[in-house]
Amino acid sequence: MKAMKWMLATVALAVTGWSTSASSATAVGPICDTAARVGSTTYYSCSGSSHNALDMSNGTCSVWNHRGMINVSRYYAYYGGCANNCSGGTSCNGGAGNYYVVTGGSGWDFRQLHLNSNVSSGSKTCDRCALGLVGSTGNSTGAHVHADNRQYGTRKTAWYTSVGTTCGSSAYCSNRVGTPTL
Ligand SMILES: [Zn+2]
Repeated sequence: MKAMKWMLATVALAVTGWSTSASSATAVGPICDTAARVGSTTYYSCSGSSHNALDMSNGTCSVWNHRGMINVSRYYAYYGGCANNCSGGTSCNGGAGNYYVVTGGSGWDFRQLHLNSNVSSGSKTCDRCALGLVGSTGNSTGAHVHADNRQYGTRKTAWYTSVGTTCGSSAYCSNRVGTPTL
């Protein structure tokens, strides 16, 4: 009987894909333009108030693709509904704007915020695919990609500090910017 219960539990895990264990992933820059740079890390604008995430921009809005950052195929859950804009300053989706979440184990997730939506936007499983456009939806002061790695909702910093990503680092789509836990 005990063995049967264990088997059923294993099947349930396989069906839902749910897992309690987390592991390290690799995240690359979200913009395939060599001009893309990191503008905020642990602090806004690198010396302001606490931020604990990466903000990345190439200085354009609604021009370049906002791409998935995890370098393997993952499920990106989409939360949309915010009107595209390039200046931000709205509370849409709690300030996140249009955004994606990749869910990992043990309370970990990886989020990419503020994108302007287009035909590519929607929940999907893919590897570094176009998710929308670099934009400024939600609580944002200019078009950029905000990426964070959280455990039970708390933003962590080790995923980018561990690989030396800091202000001015490249946010190009082939440059590793971090090793988030998922
Ligand atoms: Zn940010």
